[in-house]
Amino acid sequence: MSVSLSHLNTLAVRSEADSMDIASTVEELQRVIRSTAQSGEALTVLGGGSNVVPLRHLPGRLLLLRDDRVHVLEERVDTVLVEVGAGHDWNALVEKTLERGWSGLENLILIPGTAGAAPIQNIGAYGVELKDRLHSLLAIDRSSGELREFLEKDCEFGYRTSLFKQSGNWVIGRVRLLLSKSSQLELGYPEVARHMEGRDHTAREVARVVSAIRRQKLPNPMLTGNVGSFFKNPIVPLSQAEKLREMIPSLNTYLVDVDRAEVKLSAAQLIDRAGWKGRRERGVGVWEKQPLVLVNLGTENGSDFLAFAQKIRTDLLDRYGVSLELEPVVIGQD
Ligand SMILES: Cc1cc2nc3c(=O)[nH]c(=O)nc-3n(C[C@H](O)[C@H](O)[C@H](O)COP(=O)(O)OP(=O)(O)OC[C@H]3O[C@@H](n4cnc5c(N)ncnc54)[C@H](O)[C@@H]3O)c2cc1C
Repeated sequence: MSVSLSHLNTLAVRSEADSMDIASTVEELQRVIRSTAQSGEALTVLGGGSNVVPLRHLPGRLLLLRDDRVHVLEERVDTVLVEVGAGHDWNALVEKTLERGWSGLENLILIPGTAGAAPIQNIGAYGVELKDRLHSLLAIDRSSGELREFLEKDCEFGYRTSLFKQSGNWVIGRVRLLLSKSSQLELGYPEVARHMEGRDHTAREVARVVSAIRRQKLPNPMLTGNVGSFFKNPIVPLSQAEKLREMIPSLNTYLVDVDRAEVKLSAAQLIDRAGWKGRRERGVGVWEKQPLVLVNLGTENGSDFLAFAQKIRTDLLDRYGVSLELEPVVIGQD
C-alpha cells in the first residue's frame, strides 16, 4: 500500500512512496538497509523533510529515522562530547544543550530537521557550520549495511556539502558533537554582533538574538511551505566578481579562498536586483523578506518549484553570467 509524504515535507507538496519503514535504532537501520540492498529496491532516507523537493512518486521504500537518544560520552573540565541519534529533532537538541549550560550550537538554533541530516549539507547559519562542532559520526554503508566511523576531517565538508551529500552512499546513524561548558561564542556575523551589544555574552542570549533575526526574515514552514534557502550562494572567480561590480556597485562579496581567488556572492542580492522578489507563478513565490526562499502559495507539486527555480536560474545566467545551484535535494519522479 502506498504511503503519503504530504505531511512529511516542509514544502507541503504531494508525493507517495511505495512503502515505508521506521528505524529507531542503528540495528534496525542496518536491517532495512541490508534487506533493500538484497532485494535491489530503491531506498530513500528522510529526516524532517525540510530540505527535499519531493516529486509525485517515490519508487521503492521510504525510511524514516526516529532514534532520538542523547548520551554524554565524555565530560571534561571545559568540554563535553555528546552522541545523538540521527532522528533527534535538531532544534530540540539545541534547546537541550542550552538548558544543560553547554555552548556551541546556539547560532544554529531554529534550523528545522534532524541531527542525522545536519552533516549532509553541513548546516550553517550566522557564522557557524556543523563541521565546527562535529567530532565524528557513525554511518552505514548502503551497499553492505556495514557500520563505519567518520572523524570530522574525513567528512569532506564544504559550503552546504559533504562526502555524504556527494556520494549518497551512506546513511548517518549517530552524530557526536563536541560542545563547550564555558561560553565560547561566535559573534563574527555582523548582524548578530550588532544585536548582542549591551546584552550578556551567554549562549542563551546569542540563541535569543539569532531566533529573533530568523523569525523576522524566514517564513514558518508550519504556516507557509518552504525549505529555507532554495539556492546556494554562488562561488565565482574574483575576476568575474570585479566585472559584476561594474554593473552592480553595491555587490556583496565574501572572499572564500585566497589562493584560488574565489569569492562568494549573495544569491539573494542578485535575485532581488533581477526583480524576482515577491513574484509568483503556479502557486510558487519568492519570499518578500528573503528572496533566497521560495514559498508554497498553493501548489501541490514539487515540479512547480523546480520550474520556477529554473526560470530564476536562467534569468541570472543571462543577466550576470552566474550559475545558481539548488540547495535542497530532489527526491522521486513525476
Ligand atoms: C525555514 C527553514 C530554514 C532553514 N534554515 C537553514 C539554515 O539556516 N541553514 C541550513 O544549513 N539549512 C537550513 N534549512 C534546511 C534544512 O533545515 C537542513 O538542511 C536540515 O539539516 C534538513 O534536515 P531534515 O532532517 O529535514 O532532512 P531531510 O529534508 O529529511 O533530508 C535532506 C537530505 O538528507 C538526506 N538524509 C536525511 N537524513 C539522513 C541520514 N540520517 N543519513 C543520510 N542521509 C540523510 C535525505 O535523503 C535528503 O537527501 C532550513 C529549512 C527551512 C524549512
